[in-house]
Amino acid sequence: MLREEGIEEIYDGRFYSPDDLVPVGCSGCEGCSDCCRNTGDTIILDPYDMYLLQTGTGRTFEEMIELQIEIRLVEGLILPNLMQHHEGESGGNNGLQQDCCPFLSESGRCTIHPWRPGFCRLYPMGRYYEGDRFYYIVQKNECTGREKTPVLLRDWLGVEDLPRYEAFISSWHSFRKRAENALAFLTEKSRSSVARYILQLFFVHPYLTEMEFYPQYEARMEICMGALGDAFRAAEGR
Ligand code: SF4
Ligand code: SF4
Repeated sequence: MLREEGIEEIYDGRFYSPDDLVPVGCSGCEGCSDCCRNTGDTIILDPYDMYLLQTGTGRTFEEMIELQIEIRLVEGLILPNLMQHHEGESGGNNGLQQDCCPFLSESGRCTIHPWRPGFCRLYPMGRYYEGDRFYYIVQKNECTGREKTPVLLRDWLGVEDLPRYEAFISSWHSFRKRAENALAFLTEKSRSSVARYILQLFFVHPYLTEMEFYPQYEARMEICMGALGDAFRAAEGR
């Protein structure tokens, strides 16, 4: 989903914004759930996804880890992604006996639809970043074989307060890039402890789901920059 180069191969030649019509409509998917299967570890979560998952499931990071989510190294950071359930495994609510998202029901529907991650909201679109800005793209080789009717992009995303969400997306992307840059100058031991600190602060530490997400994110980012800002600036000054 994070595309920064080589998009000619994968996009339909246009950049879209929220008030554009995008050719991605698929009649409510009509029982298809292809994009919820065999996704490996590609559905990487951001802090807003974590907040939504907590809200929708009533479970914390620690209650979901190794059941519905797992962690891995992504460009120097330790980030969570949705797991895939394999034949014979338990922990989700599907009985499909194949590789699929733990939140996919037996009838092939998303059981956390209102709280699904940003990656799932976008699909088959992606984001193309240029500095702190991003554009939406349609990935032309995804969701194949379906009639693509035009839909309003903001409706497709179904995110409350889209301008605020987009500001968060830009902030988190910029933070990830700065962290990646700073981590490259640290020793292996320090890299590991910084990556674990970021995971703890933005994902493991539970969000208050009865409160808005954005002020909580901003407060955590302030704490984080208080702790890591000097290291970021030092790396940027080299
Ligand atoms: S692959 Fe396309 S049609 Fe199938 S569930 Fe995903 S978005 Fe819907
Ligand atoms: S969270 Fe929902 S939409 Fe996303 S992969 Fe899982 S079942 Fe599919």
